[in-house]
Amino acid sequence: MYDTIIIGGGPAGLSAGIYAARGNLNTLILEPGLAGGQMVNTLHVSNYPGVLPEDTGMALGQRMGEQAESFGAKIEYLEALEIQDHGDKKIVVTDDGNLETKTVIIATGAKPRPLGAKGEAEFAGKGVSYCATCDGTFYQDGDVFIIGGGDSAVEEALYMARIARKIYIVHRRDELRAEAKYAERAMNHEKIEILWNTELREIKGEKFASSVVLENNKTGEITEIKAEDKVPFGIFLYVGNTPQTQFLGDLLELNKGYIPVDGNQQTSVPGIFAAGDIVDKRVRQVVNAASEGAMAALASERYIGDLDAKKK
Ligand code: NAP
Repeated sequence: MYDTIIIGGGPAGLSAGIYAARGNLNTLILEPGLAGGQMVNTLHVSNYPGVLPEDTGMALGQRMGEQAESFGAKIEYLEALEIQDHGDKKIVVTDDGNLETKTVIIATGAKPRPLGAKGEAEFAGKGVSYCATCDGTFYQDGDVFIIGGGDSAVEEALYMARIARKIYIVHRRDELRAEAKYAERAMNHEKIEILWNTELREIKGEKFASSVVLENNKTGEITEIKAEDKVPFGIFLYVGNTPQTQFLGDLLELNKGYIPVDGNQQTSVPGIFAAGDIVDKRVRQVVNAASEGAMAALASERYIGDLDAKKK
């Protein structure tokens, strides 16, 4: 039986792994993708303390994984399908069998949310993307539309400004949600034009996306912008994220899909903790994901100590 199974290998899960393994807990991290979680889609995590300027999100994730393993945590490329609570014992059902553990730390994060515009699903991977740092190079000297006005949209617009010839930020309001410093940089960038009060209605094309239909939600005016001949044409969507809690069913309390926790990262089920973007909270940054992972691991250690004391 494991002491703790950590579900998710983003900064929250890996930090939990580092602390749990250093605390001598028999620790397993389940991550069916790359270590680093959403961070691997970010070019630079420039606001994480101590990060090197040349560090990519992917490199940072990989190093966090190696650090957890160096303390004895095991990382398995398995997907958790269900958690069963049997009091002092939890069972994590995976795509490769059942695993027993005393505690679980849920750090499954969130996934980019589709907007639901007409043509979005049809042209996904054919001009429509959710990750500029992954797919940006396909749009060298092209025209690019970034949908959304949050940190992700603005940071990726600034990233694409180094690659594409023209970037439109399509935002439904007249004010960006992104941090002021980056918002200003985007508003003053010569290659970036912000289409305020504007919503993406449709993506059209044949094999690949080649036009967008936009609506001004104040005036109702509809505009179609078409790709120019031989100029790459891309649409990147950054309209928020969906929490990855579907696999939990009704095991624990959720708020709009996110997990409420107490000051020790404890969920509504004793012995099950949560950390990172999956938690019901306001600020979703790498730095607080890592901190919550550490707190969840330490709380898990205390919980196991109490279980052992009860048995004596
Ligand atoms: P977000 O902050 O939720 O922003 C989503 C954006 O999409 C908002 O501007 C929102 O518009 C817009 N939007 C949502 N639904 C829409 C719809 N149906 N139609 C049109 N527009 C829609 O998401 P995010 O930018 O991915 O950021 C998620 C979290 O990660 C945030 O806490 C953010 O601070 C953090 N983050 C931090 C960094 C960093 O610090 N380096 C980088 C990336 C993300 P409204 O503004 O009108 O609501």
